[in-house]
Amino acid sequence: MTDTAPVVEPTLPDGWELVVGLEVHCELSTATKLFCGCRNRFGDDPNTNVCPVCLGLPGSLPVLNGSAVDYAMRLGLALNCTVNPAVFARKNYFYPDMPKDYQVTQYDLPTSTDGHLELPDGTVVGIERAHIEEDTGKSTHVGGSGRIHDATHSLVDYNRAGIPLVEIVSRPDIRTVESARAYASELRAILTSIDVSDAKMEEGSMRVDANVSVRPIGSDELRTRCEVKNINSIRSLGRAIEYEANRHIDLYDSGQTPRQETRHWDEANGRSTSGRSKEDSEDYRYFPEPDLVPLDPTGAQVDAIAEAMPPLPSARRHALADAAGLEAGSVALVVERGQDELALAAISAGADGGIVIKHLENNLADGTGELTAESFAALAAMEADGRLSATQAKTVLTDLVASGGDPTSIAAAHGFEAMDTGELDAILDRLIADNPDEWGRFVDGDRKVQGFFVGQIMKATKGQADGKVVNMLMQQRAAG
Ligand code: ZN
Ligand code: MN
Repeated sequence: MTDTAPVVEPTLPDGWELVVGLEVHCELSTATKLFCGCRNRFGDDPNTNVCPVCLGLPGSLPVLNGSAVDYAMRLGLALNCTVNPAVFARKNYFYPDMPKDYQVTQYDLPTSTDGHLELPDGTVVGIERAHIEEDTGKSTHVGGSGRIHDATHSLVDYNRAGIPLVEIVSRPDIRTVESARAYASELRAILTSIDVSDAKMEEGSMRVDANVSVRPIGSDELRTRCEVKNINSIRSLGRAIEYEANRHIDLYDSGQTPRQETRHWDEANGRSTSGRSKEDSEDYRYFPEPDLVPLDPTGAQVDAIAEAMPPLPSARRHALADAAGLEAGSVALVVERGQDELALAAISAGADGGIVIKHLENNLADGTGELTAESFAALAAMEADGRLSATQAKTVLTDLVASGGDPTSIAAAHGFEAMDTGELDAILDRLIADNPDEWGRFVDGDRKVQGFFVGQIMKATKGQADGKVVNMLMQQRAAG
């Protein structure tokens, strides 16, 4: 299943409402790390992109990466945030994959605050903050299930230590599993379209933690939440939230209360397990980072970034939906794949919007190759006026993607000639004669037998008949 496949919306037991806020860490795709010149690249041999700064060796000092700050401000503006003067802080905790025993992050004065993000269905989710911080190294626990409990030993790779991150914290505005998934997809679309992160959940460059609680419908209280970590796909995000919400409801139903804690999502077993009890912020002993000056971007810097902003997914959805005559939600996938420019060009070359979107969604998931707007429009016209059936159009499209060319000559080379209506009439005559009972039911208004006739005609014509024309012929015959 792909991340975008439709999933049946799970429901909570009657009377309960979901309250979810998401924390998303995304790695910025700068050339180098946040505080040193080490290469920022996924997949290199372990511990090859390291230096005294990102290994936290005594006496080393950080030098801030200006591009990372620009990327973070671009992201803040894309999320409709206010970009503020900011101060880096040390967040103190011990983890073997964090060589300094503190993480440089932003605490009470983050770069971006008070934004929002609009989902394809029009739902708006508040963004509390988006702050800059450094990534940790990566531990691998060997000799068991992959978790530390049953490992024989652990390995640490510090290539990831010091890679710039932006942590985006939403408000607890998310009320359905579907919205949570849509939020993560939308964020991914924004990150890639403004070119600040490749946002690959499978490579860990976008990591989503879900703060989940439930409450009785109609209440506005915020009950104890649990933070579910280790979610590595959008599908898992939905499963994890649903599981966690139902776990809370079961506890309340049996007179208990969930404990505030971090939990670990176990994808294989479809459940979350208890992690550490959640620290309060005072446990981290935050204090301003003494080795870095405060960030104080000028208004001109922020304006320049805003002016250079490419069109964002929500604006692109609205533009394409208007051109295609469809709802914004129904072109979301095409925009997410970055195929909206081609779609708009094909539509302005005269193509039917519905046909263009249908092919992009269903037949062009792997890319559009050599397909041009002009050939796409010509193909859509042949399909719209019945010269090609949908099946034939798909075949021609495959050739256009592979090697370009003219759809008319490709169709001719495949022997796709529009079926003569007279020929179809003759086949229909024969089918009616052979199946008088079924035809009688169709004439009496039983539309269920329509599929039977269409299927028989497709079989007789090896798929060359145009379904729309067949339906039209059947209607005319039944009416006459
Ligand atoms: Zn380094
Ligand atoms: Mn963080």
